[in-house]
This record gives sequence, structure tokens and C-alpha cells, in this order.
Amino acid sequence: MRNNKNKPKIADIIISPEGLVELNRILNSGVSHNSKNQAMNEIAGGDCLVCGSLPSKKLIYDVSDDDGEGKLVEHYCDKHLPAI
Ligand SMILES: [Zn+2]
Repeated sequence: MRNNKNKPKIADIIISPEGLVELNRILNSGVSHNSKNQAMNEIAGGDCLVCGSLPSKKLIYDVSDDDGEGKLVEHYCDKHLPAI
């Protein structure tokens, strides 16, 4: 088996209503860009790879090789989700 970047799986990013409220509160507050990024990472798992906004989908690539299992996850908003 080669370590190709295979066709990824698409998964919805599920954010709880409480998480969304909390995230919006942080994003709309005056905290630093870093703090906003951190909140996005904690609550949504990351930000859109293209525009940095709240993602709605994630692509999970299997990058396993002889050394073991590996996964690469990319986050995208609706607008930037690439066609697969
Ligand atoms: Zn985007």
C-alpha cells in the first residue's frame, strides 16, 4: 500500500447550541485574534482552511503508512468545501 492522499471522507462538524452561543460570544468580543482561533479550535475543531471562518464540514484523509495509522483532517466552510 502506498501512502497516497486518498479520497477523503466528509463529515459534518457538529457544534452544540451552547457551543455555538459561546463561540459567537467570543468571536464578537474584543479578544485577540489568537484567542478567537483557540476558541474556534476548541469548539469547532478548527477553522476553514481557505477563509478562516467557522467550518461546517471536515475532510478526513487516511494517511496511514507502514509506521501506523494516520489521519489528516481539513476543515472547510460551506463556501469552500472542495468538490471531491
Ligand atoms: Zn471558507
